Amino acid sequence: MERRRLLQYGFLAAATSFISRSLPARTAKSTGPVVISTWDAGVEANKGAWEVLSRAGTALDAVEKGVMVTEASQNCCVGLGGNPDREGIVTLDACIMDHRFNCGGVMFLERIKHPVSVARRVMEKTPHVYLAGAGAQQFAVSEGFPLEPQVLSEPARKQYKEWLKKSHYAPAVNRENTENRPGAGGVFDHDTIAMLALDAYGDLSGSCTTSGMGFKMRGRVGDSPIIGSGLYVDNAVGACAATGQGEDIIRVAGAASVVEYMRAGYAPAPACRKVIERLARIKGDKARDIQVAFIAMDRYGTVGAYALQKGFTYAVKSEEKEVLLSADSWFS
Ligand code: ASP
Repeated sequence: MERRRLLQYGFLAAATSFISRSLPARTAKSTGPVVISTWDAGVEANKGAWEVLSRAGTALDAVEKGVMVTEASQNCCVGLGGNPDREGIVTLDACIMDHRFNCGGVMFLERIKHPVSVARRVMEKTPHVYLAGAGAQQFAVSEGFPLEPQVLSEPARKQYKEWLKKSHYAPAVNRENTENRPGAGGVFDHDTIAMLALDAYGDLSGSCTTSGMGFKMRGRVGDSPIIGSGLYVDNAVGACAATGQGEDIIRVAGAASVVEYMRAGYAPAPACRKVIERLARIKGDKARDIQVAFIAMDRYGTVGAYALQKGFTYAVKSEEKEVLLSADSWFS
């Protein structure tokens, strides 16, 4: 695909340049099906989502199918190909949310290829929102998900071996994109994908799936599976998803806070910026050491994004366009 890093493009310009103060009825202004997702990997994931959206499928199906593309990658990606925790074991977190406030998530899940699909089953088939660890795995197996072997992908094995030399936990900013990850060896490499979609019926859904921070402590869970932090959808307002340093995204209830700014009348990109600004203030001098980024979509399909550091990319696909964009950032 042609790589285009444009900051303002068609309806995206609207997202970054003004604050809309009213929310008229969804009808006339809706842009039709559109999908947005995080990082370079979002380009391929959006294609998976588009197969659903272009056939008048639901946003919920689209955000599941879309991120499954990335989960299935074996090149040290989101999912079982991702980097392990410090004990050398890959543990996965994911969540999904639909247009009716239904949501489900899994945390600290091992040996399951598609955690986002297990999250959806939790949402649809249990009275709970989350299942974690052995319980999540037991549920997945009972639902027919095969238990995959517990082996590291080749890139993950190499990076873990490298990491063990110092065993120092210091996640690199923007490591989700290949060129920023030392030792990745040119392999397309990241650990999280989050996706938001609007379908032909005017409904929103979102998903988020990750192997979490590489070399994290065993049992660590970040923002990605947490409704309100890694993902939030309010069909009457909009949706938001996050990537970056999970602990700090949780601190500001990231995704839900962005949606609240949209409810107050901010367009998607300015809403993301408000929460990044809050985080920058909270973190003070330490803000430069981390990356946090948000993608957002309002109920009409207008999209936007904003990051703490430069280097955050996000992919957008609609009927008219398929683009990979660089988000504006707090620090230049
Ligand atoms: N937010 C993820 C986590 O903290 C990591 C990421 O987005 O890169 O687990």
